[in-house]
Amino acid sequence: MRVVDAKGNTVPHLYCIGHAHGKSMLAHAASAQGISVVEQLSGKDHVLNHLSVPTACFTHPEISMVGLTETQAKEKAKKEEFKISVAKTSFKANTKALAENEGEGLAKLIYRHDTSEILGVHILGMHGADLIHEASNAIALGTRVQAHFHPSFNYENINLNLEYNW
Ligand SMILES: Cc1cc2nc3c(=O)[nH]c(=O)nc-3n(C[C@H](O)[C@H](O)[C@H](O)COP(=O)(O)OP(=O)(O)OC[C@H]3O[C@@H](n4cnc5c(N)ncnc54)[C@H](O)[C@@H]3O)c2cc1C
Repeated sequence: MRVVDAKGNTVPHLYCIGHAHGKSMLAHAASAQGISVVEQLSGKDHVLNHLSVPTACFTHPEISMVGLTETQAKEKAKKEEFKISVAKTSFKANTKALAENEGEGLAKLIYRHDTSEILGVHILGMHGADLIHEASNAIALGTRVQAHFHPSFNYENINLNLEYNW
C-alpha cells in the first residue's frame, strides 16, 4: 500500500505494511507485504494476493482457512456469472488420521466448476494449520492441487476431494 499525506498525495518511496496496512492482522501477512514492497522497490511489479494468505486457530483440532468463504464465493460467482462447486470430506475417511486416532475433522474445498480454480479451503482437523499451505499456494498461482501421497493427511482431505469431484 502506498502512503498518502494529509492532502491525499502519494508520498514517493513510502510504503505501508503490517497492521498499519489494515488488510490482515497476521505476522506472515506483514512479512509477505514486506517482500512485496522490496520487490517493488527493486523494479519488479509484485502485488500480494491477499486471498492467498491463510489464517489458522491453534485449537485442538486446528482450524484453518484460505481464500473465500462459501457465501463470498457464491456472491462472486453470481456477479461474474460462473458456477462454483463445493467438495467436503471427513477426517473419518482419512486413514492416516484414523491411524493417529484423530478422526474428528472436516475439510471443505470451494472451486470454480469451469476452470477448477480453487477459491477457498476450510479445514477443521489435525494438522489443519499445516495442510492449508498447499491450498494457499494453489490460490496464489491460480492452479489446482496436484497428486498426493497416499495415505497422508493431504491426500484424503485435499487430493481426494478433487479426485471425486473433478
Ligand atoms: C499475543 C499475540 C499472538 C499472536 N499470534 C500470532 C500468530 O500465531 N500468528 C500470526 O500470524 N500473528 C500473530 N499475532 C499477530 C502478529 O504479531 C502481528 O500481526 C504482527 O506482529 C504485525 O506486524 P506489524 O509489523 O504490523 O506490527 P508489530 O509486529 O507490532 O511491529 C511494530 C513495531 O513498531 C514498533 N513501534 C511502535 N511505535 C513506534 C514508534 N513510535 N517508533 C518506533 N517504533 C515503534 C513496535 O515496538 C514494534 O516493534 C499475534 C499477536 C499477539 C499480540
